[in-house]
Parts: sequence; structure tokens; C-alpha cells
Amino acid sequence: MPRQSRKPREMHLCRVAVSRVVDLGPSLRRITFTGSALEHLPYAGPDQRVKLLFAADSSKLPDVEGPFSAPRFMGLWAGSAFRGIAMRTYTIRHHRPSDHEVDIDFALHGPVGLASKFATEAEVGDEMTIYGPVSDYVAPPEGAWILIGGDDTAAPAIAAILESLPRDAVGKAFVEVGDSGDVQSIEAPAGVEVTWLDREGAPTATSLHLRNAVCGTAIPEGPRWVWLAGESSVVTSIRRYLVNDRGVDRRQISFTGYWKHGKFGV
Ligand SMILES: Cc1cc2nc3c(=O)[nH]c(=O)nc-3n(C[C@H](O)[C@H](O)[C@H](O)COP(=O)(O)OP(=O)(O)OC[C@H]3O[C@@H](n4cnc5c(N)ncnc54)[C@H](O)[C@@H]3O)c2cc1C
Repeated sequence: MPRQSRKPREMHLCRVAVSRVVDLGPSLRRITFTGSALEHLPYAGPDQRVKLLFAADSSKLPDVEGPFSAPRFMGLWAGSAFRGIAMRTYTIRHHRPSDHEVDIDFALHGPVGLASKFATEAEVGDEMTIYGPVSDYVAPPEGAWILIGGDDTAAPAIAAILESLPRDAVGKAFVEVGDSGDVQSIEAPAGVEVTWLDREGAPTATSLHLRNAVCGTAIPEGPRWVWLAGESSVVTSIRRYLVNDRGVDRRQISFTGYWKHGKFGV
């Protein structure tokens, strides 16, 4: 399918603070961030993502906010004010502009990563800077059969995509999570069957649940729309199988590595 950028004309830098922390399950935590600049964030698409900016000491986060085009932001990023700051990418699960709030759902994978550590230890009042949003989402063509697959990092995007689909959409969605307690209720179209795959605590990177489920699905002939996200080698191998062994046209598949086993900060 054609990659069509739906990037808003301006992205925004927003200074925010944690206002709520809610466990959706043993390994999925929803953090609500509040900040007055969130009122102006545009909507980029159902899988819209933002950069979270991390400094060793949050008081070192630059005290700037407002609209910043990508080139202007990159100029800022290259400067001394941003030295020592790291970025991670997360999906906006909900945006409530009038309440100046966004919800971000973190897959907790221990204190090894900056973002996971932040989410594990988050307390109301913790400061953060957000930059975005961006989305390359291209909606399914009318009548296309839907196939969606992802792990817990993609659960927020999958939930938002399912909620955005036409109510007469038909297909299947698979979401792999660390524990059966991470399963959430999603307002998917009645014709899209959502299956939650429980890793039962097994390491994400070696789990075959998602791959086996997506690759074992009967795919009808005709127009299809496939959306995959999760650990990079897993989504790449699923895509390769669908194209090479199942004859799915590569243009019908949108796939993104949301993280890479053993690599910091994808
Ligand atoms: C477009 C996009 C949207 C995303 N949206 C979300 C989202 O809404 N929620 C979400 O939780 N994640 C999301 N991610 C994934 C998230 O950015 C990565 O998991 C990121 O690496 C986490 O950063 P970290 O600082 O915790 O770990 P890093 O410092 O990046 O990595 C540290 C170590 O942990 C490993 N690691 C990273 N992520 C995981 C994981 N999930 N499970 C097990 N091991 C891991 C790495 O391989 C590395 O060995 C998204 C990524 C992209 C590209």
C-alpha cells in the first residue's frame, strides 16, 4: 500500500507532568501526562507516535515548548541545550485536548531501558517533555480484509486502529501480551475477531505466539490490508512469510519494528 505521510504541518514540544498512573495489567501501565501545551497537539492518525525526552535530571530538560517543525526541532536537538538527552518513541493512546491530557501505555520490561524504568518508577508530578505527533498511517481501502498483529508495545496503536476502522470492517487481529491479566477490552468492529495471545511470562523476543498465530491464519483472496508492529525480527519474519509463502502483495502490508532485541533506543 502506498506510504502516504499524514504528518501535521507543525509538531509540538510540550512540557508535561505525570498526573495519573494506572496498571492495565501486570506488564502494561497507563501513564496520564498533563500540560497546557497538549491542548494544541493536532491529530496525526490512529497510530500517532511522539518522542519522549529523557534527561538524567529532569530539571535539565530544556524549558521550551510550542510548535516546532522537524527541521527546527533537529536544530534544537543538535545544540548544547539538548546534550545528554535521549528519546524514545511511544503511541498516544488517548488525547483529551480540552483536559490538556494524553494517555501513554507502557509495556514494562524491567529497569533496563530508560523508558521502562521511568514507567516502572513513575509518580504523580514527574516531569517529561513530549515531541510530536507523527503518523504514516494509511487507512484500509474499502472492503479490504483486515489482518493486524503486534506485541504489547503495539497494543495501544492496535486498539486505536481497531476503534477507528469502519464498523463493517472484517478480519482478524492478534495482540501478544506478557500475561493474561494484560488483556483489555477494545471497541473493534463486530466483524474483526480480536485474539489475545498470552506469553505466560516467556521472554518477548523468543516468543513464537504472534508469529504462529498470524502465519497460521487463513487469508481470503481479494484486497487485503495487513498492519504489523512489534519486535523488529518478529514482524520482519511475519511479513517475509506472508509475501513469500502466502502470496500477499507487499504493498498490502504495513510493518514497523517498534523495538529491536538487544538494541537500546530504536
Ligand atoms: C512508532 C512506535 C510506537 C511505539 N509505541 C509504544 C507504546 O505505545 N508502548 C510501548 O510500550 N512501546 C512502544 N514502542 C516501543 C518502545 O519505543 C521500545 O520498546 C523502546 O525500546 C523502549 O525504550 P526503553 O528505554 O524502555 O528501552 P531501550 O533502552 O530502548 O532498550 C533496552 C533493552 O530493552 C530491550 N527492550 C526494549 N523494548 C522492549 C520490550 N517491549 N520488551 C522487552 N525488551 C525490550 C531492548 O532490546 C534493549 O535490550 C513504540 C515504538 C515505535 C517505533
